[in-house]
Amino acid sequence: MSEKKSKGQQLQKELSYKKQNYYELADKAEKKAIFDYAKGYMAFLDAAKTEREACDYAVKAAQEKGFTEYHFGDKLAAGDKKYFVNRGKSIVVFRVGTKNLEEDGIRVIASHIDAPRIDIKQNPLYEDSSMAFLKTHYYGGIKKYQWTAIPLALHGVVVKKNGEKLTVRVGDDPKDPVFYITDLLPHLGADQMSGRAGKIIDGEQLNVVVGGLPYADEDVSEKIKLNVLAVLNRAYGITEEDFLSAELSAVPAYNARDIGFDRALIGAYGHDDRVCAYPALTAVLENETEHTVLAMLVDKEEIGSEGTTGIQSKVYEDLMEEISIAMGANFRKVRFASKCLSSDVTAAYDPNFAGVYEKMNSAMLSCGTAMCKFTGARGKSGSNDANAEFIGEVRKMFAEGGVVWQTAELGKVDVGGGGTVAKFVAQLNIDTVDLGVPVISMHAPWEVVSKADLYSNYKAFLAFMK
Ligand code: MN
Ligand code: MN
Repeated sequence: MSEKKSKGQQLQKELSYKKQNYYELADKAEKKAIFDYAKGYMAFLDAAKTEREACDYAVKAAQEKGFTEYHFGDKLAAGDKKYFVNRGKSIVVFRVGTKNLEEDGIRVIASHIDAPRIDIKQNPLYEDSSMAFLKTHYYGGIKKYQWTAIPLALHGVVVKKNGEKLTVRVGDDPKDPVFYITDLLPHLGADQMSGRAGKIIDGEQLNVVVGGLPYADEDVSEKIKLNVLAVLNRAYGITEEDFLSAELSAVPAYNARDIGFDRALIGAYGHDDRVCAYPALTAVLENETEHTVLAMLVDKEEIGSEGTTGIQSKVYEDLMEEISIAMGANFRKVRFASKCLSSDVTAAYDPNFAGVYEKMNSAMLSCGTAMCKFTGARGKSGSNDANAEFIGEVRKMFAEGGVVWQTAELGKVDVGGGGTVAKFVAQLNIDTVDLGVPVISMHAPWEVVSKADLYSNYKAFLAFMK
């Protein structure tokens, strides 16, 4: 049943740009693919709440797909499938392609696997008023009040004096106990609630409750603290001093769940940026290509991409140089010819907070993965600001790959802003643009994304690799 369009309607259709809802455009088979893909992603989210766990997951997934570990200096040949682990906290998976590396470069997808959370301090354990607590220092940009009065799990490692490394993961199994940061009852909260939101909970109030049972001995003081130490000693063989060289984090004890009667959305901890890391990982692991492709899953983005495992570390540049050398290519030529999708999440337009967004240029939920030409704040400051030429090239790839996508800007001009790893990759002389999934309630203990956008992101990577 074709309705005849007026000349104006026809012209409007031909000349105008309108972003569209991916669910609306998808046929039955595509919708099924969207929902099926989300299942694997949600299992990944539950398995990997820290960068270490995400790295371990990626190693296993890579091995299952026949990828083998790469070390600097190893020989490489076209067709090789490799993974490179950096200190157990970041991982790069790559395929060596058949195309000339100096002419074609490397197709890089950069994402991060750390997420905002509550880190435990190095001398954390104390007892006060019938409770034992761990002192903390939060990691990344959080609204501190959101992390109180929710169930928390403890994840991380303890490295003992003899070098032995213990893995800790308590609170995700329904049989496990969970942990907790207290908040004030509203009955006594008048003063608290009249203050500024940033001051509702102080950094030094984010103390995690870990015990309440006194050790049965009249002759000791701090009985509850001692009992917690005794429990830890029985479970892990550690003493209080071992906290000094531990890396423990309190993360939400929730697992990923469908949101909505129609299950269109996913609620979970740490979509930022695992909703890009998982598609990057699966795209490279599961799909052959003529290009040399490389997916980086890096650490420490949330605290400025610092350290040996953040993307500012020379290790990633070294790796690309080593690949070039192994393939007999000039690294300077290789990186000049390389292209990167810096894949990090962006803010989804939230009609409940319409005032901070500029609607025309905001990413809409379910309208596909979102390309951000520039991030930054106050006049694009600190932003990569990708070239129109490169965006045009990527646009063509997406059109050929049937990718439903949109553009994004992180909020109204001068309202706020943010940054990604894009500018650090671009510093290597690699054309880079930001592309990632729109997120609702970013950096909250439970964030929301659309399954359609997740799958669109995966399809975008496939188009980029093709
Ligand atoms: Mn991010
Ligand atoms: Mn973030």
